[in-house]
Amino acid sequence: MGYFEGKTGLILGVANDRSIAWAVAQEIMAQGGACGFSHLPDRPDDEKQKNRRRVTKCTDGQPLAKFVLPLDVQRDEDIARFMEHAGREFGKIDFLLHSIAFADRDDLTRDTIEASRSGFKMAMEISAYSLLAVARAARPLLREEASILTMTYFGGEKCVPGYNVMGVCKAALDACVRYLTYELGPSRIRVNAVSAGPLKTLAGSAAGVGDMLSLYEKVAPLGRNVTHEEVGRAGAFLLSPLASGITGEILHVDAGYNVMGSPGRLLNLLRPQA
Ligand code: NDP
Repeated sequence: MGYFEGKTGLILGVANDRSIAWAVAQEIMAQGGACGFSHLPDRPDDEKQKNRRRVTKCTDGQPLAKFVLPLDVQRDEDIARFMEHAGREFGKIDFLLHSIAFADRDDLTRDTIEASRSGFKMAMEISAYSLLAVARAARPLLREEASILTMTYFGGEKCVPGYNVMGVCKAALDACVRYLTYELGPSRIRVNAVSAGPLKTLAGSAAGVGDMLSLYEKVAPLGRNVTHEEVGRAGAFLLSPLASGITGEILHVDAGYNVMGSPGRLLNLLRPQA
């Protein structure tokens, strides 16, 4: 019997089969959990429903994928409609995955000091505030001992040049995790984050993951990058009852990169050979 047998929950942030949310969902469903999925709403004139189809391409044929519905986290009415449907489908839920971030490319690629006011607000709203908004809307559905998980990155803890405005968003997101942890603790609801090493995804490519992959390979103690499956399993673990004593945690799944205080073995490559 899988460790998600009989459990139900929501997966927000699948764009395609390379999405971290999909890696987490695959592990949950393999362990018997049933999931409801979101997709970014399609424009009314988009008859092909491109956004919806990107997600249903993953979920079609998965018996434990119970629904796929539109949800733009910038719109409270979308969030409310999505949660209402989840309530009708599942009654109560055991887990909620928030795997969502966005910043305008111009703001992502500029130095942080040059971030536009409107771009900063939008990036913060979608990438940090949205965790509070979806947690609040899901609250009546969350069972005692339910678990919430978000996806963060090391660039919120330390300056990672190139991550720019998204680093500021991740610092805010990490703080949201801590405050939610305290506030939902009396309901025995846990809140955690996985801080993943770089992975090739749509959002990852926009945030300059290419250079980071070769850096991590040289600097991380394990001497390699992490895989989607490793991040998916760690995320599923934190969403499951196996992690019942863990809340407020930022779990680094990054081959150990975050413990390094120097470039480590990369220095050997930089030293002139004798
Ligand atoms: P994806 O692009 O696959 O996932 C990002 C998701 O956010 C997409 O499904 C996207 O929808 C969704 N999204 C964006 N704006 C909105 C919105 N307004 N409302 C609802 N959904 C929205 O990339 P990842 O899987 O890499 O990203 C998932 C999370 O993991 C992000 O928080 C990211 O910062 C984090 N992360 C990623 C790392 C990496 O290297 N890839 C490393 C560490 C953390 P759509 O595509 O339809 O616009």
